[in-house]
Amino acid sequence: MAESDAGSNLILIIDDSVDTIRLLNGMLKDQGKILFATNGEAGIQLAQRQQPALILLDVEMTGMNGYEVCAALKTDPATKDCAVIIVTANSGMEHEIAALEAGAVDFISKPFNPPVVRARVQTHLRLQQHSAMMRQLANRDGLTALYNRRYFDEMLAQEFERHRRQQLPLALAIIDVDHFKAYNDHYGHPQGDTCLQGVANAIDTATRRPGELVARYGGEEFTVILPHTDAAGAEKYGRWLCQHIQELQIPHQSSATAPTVTISVGLVSLVPSAQDSTQQLIAAADQALYQAKTDGRNRAIVNNWP
Ligand SMILES: [Mg+2]
Repeated sequence: MAESDAGSNLILIIDDSVDTIRLLNGMLKDQGKILFATNGEAGIQLAQRQQPALILLDVEMTGMNGYEVCAALKTDPATKDCAVIIVTANSGMEHEIAALEAGAVDFISKPFNPPVVRARVQTHLRLQQHSAMMRQLANRDGLTALYNRRYFDEMLAQEFERHRRQQLPLALAIIDVDHFKAYNDHYGHPQGDTCLQGVANAIDTATRRPGELVARYGGEEFTVILPHTDAAGAEKYGRWLCQHIQELQIPHQSSATAPTVTISVGLVSLVPSAQDSTQQLIAAADQALYQAKTDGRNRAIVNNWP
């Protein structure tokens, strides 16, 4: 969810002249997949849906002009990371400045010089790939490759708001590996890391409904955001997860719970109201996790709050 494909070479041309689109398409078609729109509004919609790596944007268009389109793209979270190259028949410093001020990364003037157009597009596609890769790395946990705590916090806040607006139930799971300290003491930290990677991968592959998000919460704790999930659905998911981890059959000789690695899961589901906060949601899931631990571990408990 919400991460664009780092490998995509999708190029969107927004220009009200079909001849210009045809010309640019001819120059660029071997550098990426080309989409086009013939006015600003349609271009913005296409950019929101497809999230192209690069947008070639004509300034002189009827309706929204290129600077207005660029400013709109740059303020929308869905399109702010698309690189925009302004295309214009005007040359001169003041036009270049206007383009950069609107948030464009570069400026190409007409009539086109094909080798220059191709070189600039290539450069910006390469830079885009690089920054998309950096963005993805910044959201990931180094050991497990799951999303990290920072990204989880961001996404939970977004989902919380969305569920509050739509008045739908949002569930949250916090998962802890049982007796993990004993595991590390017995098997050593390198194997402890391998165990965490195995558990992380199993949780991730078991969690595949659209919008669900698995993150490493810290240490041997994981967390899962479950959109549109009521308490009964949350409980079912928690139970399934416990069973799934047990079936991995990772030996754990020093566990007081089972001969293999097990997890405890605390869950909560609610339809958020204006008074609720994500902190309360996390605290409620934590409380359920604590209950699962004191009830004997290797189980899922749903907090009935509120
Ligand atoms: Mg035009």
